[in-house]
Formats: sequence, C-alpha cells, structure tokens
Amino acid sequence: MSFSIHPAVDKGIEPANRDFSGGKLHCHCTNQRVEVSVSTQSAHNHLCGCTRCWKPRGALFSQIAVVPRDSLSVTANGVKLKVLDLSAAIQRHICTTCGVHMYGRIENDDHPFFGFDFIHTELSEEQGWSEPEFAAFVSSIIESGADPAGMDAVRKRLKELGLEPYDCLPPALMDAIAAHDPRQPI
Ligand SMILES: [Zn+2]
Ligand SMILES: [Zn+2]
Repeated sequence: MSFSIHPAVDKGIEPANRDFSGGKLHCHCTNQRVEVSVSTQSAHNHLCGCTRCWKPRGALFSQIAVVPRDSLSVTANGVKLKVLDLSAAIQRHICTTCGVHMYGRIENDDHPFFGFDFIHTELSEEQGWSEPEFAAFVSSIIESGADPAGMDAVRKRLKELGLEPYDCLPPALMDAIAAHDPRQPI
C-alpha cells in the first residue's frame, strides 16, 4: 500500500469492546500532556477527509467519533488548550504546543449535533473504543493535496476495509440534518 488511510485502520480494524466505558485521551507533547477524560463508549466513529479535522502525519483521513458533552472533561493541563477557530460550528480545542486537536464542541444549541463532542479515539492508550464505520467527505482529501488520479484506489481500499466511502455524510445523517432545519449549515 503506497498510501496511509489512517494508522488506526491500515492494518485492519480492531472491533469495539462491548464492555468498554471510556478512557483518557492525551495530546502528543512529551511532558505536561493535555488530558481529556471520557466516561462512556464513543459512537459514530468514522473517518473524515475534510480539511478541518486533525489528521496524524501522513494519513489521508482523520478518525473521529462523538460522545455526549457531559461525559467529557479536561483533567490535566487544560491551560495549554485554545479554540482553533471561534467562528467554526465545531469549536476545535487544540493543544497550543503540539497542535493535536483534543476535542471539538458545538456551542450553538440550534445545531443538529448540539450536545455531542467530537474526539479522536486514537489519542487514547485504552483499547476497545467503538470502531470506525464509514468514511465521510472522501473527495475533500483532494483539497488537502491528495492526487485526484489516486481516488479510485483510495475508495477501493476503504471498501476493502468495510468503510463505505461518502463524499458528504451517510444518507441517515444527511436526512437527520435536513429534518432538523434545512437552513442550518453543518
Ligand atoms: Zn500537546
Ligand atoms: Zn472532518
């Protein structure tokens, strides 16, 4: 394989542990790591090709899941966090030293996904988080520099991994957004 979809899936996908009930996420700093604690299993884990989600070095996609916002708390070195873009619908709280995105929060209570925080489960040393189920915003990796001529191979690899590729979100999520408020941008 001449490209990396994401390190968490390149060698095959680890199934979730049904008894898993959360864990700690850490940024990539070697000391004074930012620590985020989550008290529940994640849901809707997926790959995302958009230009805003944080991707590990060399990966074409990010891996991102949701948890209820009241299950997430910053438990160490939160002073290093800042919001990347206050005008974005999802406010991404990033470590100002290493640049890792620790969690994304929606502050607009009219947003269809209000109440959920977005997390990167690979930042946890614990095993058993919900596994990725699909790939969203696949065509957007071209905006980050992926070769358009390689897209067939990328979609083929995603399908091999059991991750259905979508150029936006899966139909059920698109329907939920449309039903919530057709005027609401994502
Ligand atoms: Zn850091
Ligand atoms: Zn994204």
